[in-house]
Amino acid sequence: MSVTTLRKVFCIRNLLIRSAAHKKTSYLHNQVTLPLTDQPTIIMIGILLFLFVQAIPAELFPTNARLGNECCCQELLSSLPGLVAHPADTRYNSSLKSYWSTQEQALLPYCIVLPRNSEDVSRVVTVLTASNSTSPCRFAIRGGGHASFSGAANINAGVTIDLQVLNEVTFSANKSVVHIGGGSRWGHVYKTIVPARKAILGGSVGVPGLVTAGGYSYFSARYGFVFDCVSNFEVVLANGTLVSANAVSNAQLYRAHKGGQNNFGIVTRFDMRTFDQGDLWSGTWIHPVSASSSSFMAFENFANSQNNDMDAALISTLTATSKSTWTLSSTMKYAQPIPRPQAFSEFFKLSTIQHSEEIGNLTALTAGEPLGEPGYRWLSATATYANNATMMEAFFKLANQTVQQLPSDPAFSFSLSYQPLTKNMASQGARFGGNSYGLENLEQDHAIYVVNLRWSSAENDNVNDDLIRDLFTASDVAAQSMGLYHPLKYTNYASLWQNPISTYGNQNIKELWDVSKEYDPQQIFQERVPGGFKLPKLPLV
Ligand SMILES: Cc1cc2nc3c(=O)[nH]c(=O)nc-3n(C[C@H](O)[C@H](O)[C@H](O)COP(=O)(O)OP(=O)(O)OC[C@H]3O[C@@H](n4cnc5c(N)ncnc54)[C@H](O)[C@@H]3O)c2cc1C
Repeated sequence: MSVTTLRKVFCIRNLLIRSAAHKKTSYLHNQVTLPLTDQPTIIMIGILLFLFVQAIPAELFPTNARLGNECCCQELLSSLPGLVAHPADTRYNSSLKSYWSTQEQALLPYCIVLPRNSEDVSRVVTVLTASNSTSPCRFAIRGGGHASFSGAANINAGVTIDLQVLNEVTFSANKSVVHIGGGSRWGHVYKTIVPARKAILGGSVGVPGLVTAGGYSYFSARYGFVFDCVSNFEVVLANGTLVSANAVSNAQLYRAHKGGQNNFGIVTRFDMRTFDQGDLWSGTWIHPVSASSSSFMAFENFANSQNNDMDAALISTLTATSKSTWTLSSTMKYAQPIPRPQAFSEFFKLSTIQHSEEIGNLTALTAGEPLGEPGYRWLSATATYANNATMMEAFFKLANQTVQQLPSDPAFSFSLSYQPLTKNMASQGARFGGNSYGLENLEQDHAIYVVNLRWSSAENDNVNDDLIRDLFTASDVAAQSMGLYHPLKYTNYASLWQNPISTYGNQNIKELWDVSKEYDPQQIFQERVPGGFKLPKLPLV
């Protein structure tokens, strides 16, 4: 028998074993029962084939993990015909090309499955987690595909579940809640809600990764992180059941999804509280780098809870496009159509090279965001320090030293951004069932620092990674010596090596593990979904 025939036989054998064990799949949320095999003739042929294949000695079957995952794709194909894309399929390539970073684009799953709705996701998970599998299926969960590190939302030689088709956006009857499909992008969401003069907390790229890990929004000063405005998560669990997680039902799972990302299930729908919102003001001021010290002082004053205007959002960014060329920018948003709001007055006084400003709605302002470009190698890393201009200055000095050491690269760009994390913003989570960050009682105002590095040559991967790690090690030491250190590594900006969930505090981590053991007793999302930020092993050192 040829290897190809053996492979087919092996997959058929697996299929038969699985369909015998999983003849029926129950969807507990609505008690609908979907028969997978119901034709007596097919069952009879199946039994005969099953007996025949069972008679072949096990050692004749190629049982390595690679082949096992090929079989997972075969099994998906028979359960969800039309939704599985193999490498020869144009959908496979367009899915890969639509990842933000080339590190993610480079991973080659055996197949990509494209569910159309929650029930499809449930079927996919049921097939992939069938317990009597000879070689367990390994899979990745992909939303917008904007997390940059390799393996965040894609997988080599496994199955990638691409949720991008789940992008339906609808209002509740009174428009107080918007239901958002688990693979949506923010621009699409805003197009639906802005005409009704409604808004939600959101970002500018992919929805699910951002929401399940926190989320900075234009409105965060008033309402907190984006996940604090989720009233309900619809989730497919490891056993394929579809559940709702909210403050009343599955409350621990609800809290866990606010920070726990892909560790408990696949979110197929986010229900988010809306609020009334008209036009906003947006301004970007570019300053010479000589204004950086004054800008750090302006930032410290702005991010101080005592003066903080809750309609105002700010990102201060230093960008190096070469080892000697730095620019400084202040990106400002105001949740009222008021030109040059008082909240930013100190930034308007800084020496300015050029500026732009507009009043517009959320759709227009998000579309105008300077997001950078997909299709490069990207690394982002983060730290949290108390709100302090001296610390910002110290970090900039360290960053400049790092920039001098980074290898030359045609696509080189390095940016360092500061965003306020005020006590008010951090405390919002407690109003709506809490979140996993454990920041409710933050004692002083902080700032989140994020570095984004862009390059093109894979040869530079390791040295870039090492130098950015060294930068954050040095800045942590500096912050500790000034008494300004906070352990949080904000998950949406973290590198894989920063292990951000380990920074949520021992009690929160223990609760996340409790949820994992209760809702995923076989630890599917820890072991068969290797990508993304996993729960840290306890006890923490
Ligand atoms: C250009 C750009 C702009 C950005 N702007 C902001 C910003 O304004 N504010 C901010 O806070 N962050 C911002 N980020 C960071 C961004 O929020 C994160 O990269 C986030 O993970 C992107 O979400 P995604 O759905 O595209 O993620 P993906 O890369 O698809 O997934 C990220 C992680 O989430 C998991 N995941 C995805 N979908 C699901 C699901 N349905 N259920 C369970 N797990 C899932 C994946 O398995 C993966 O581990 C930005 C990033 C970029 C590249």
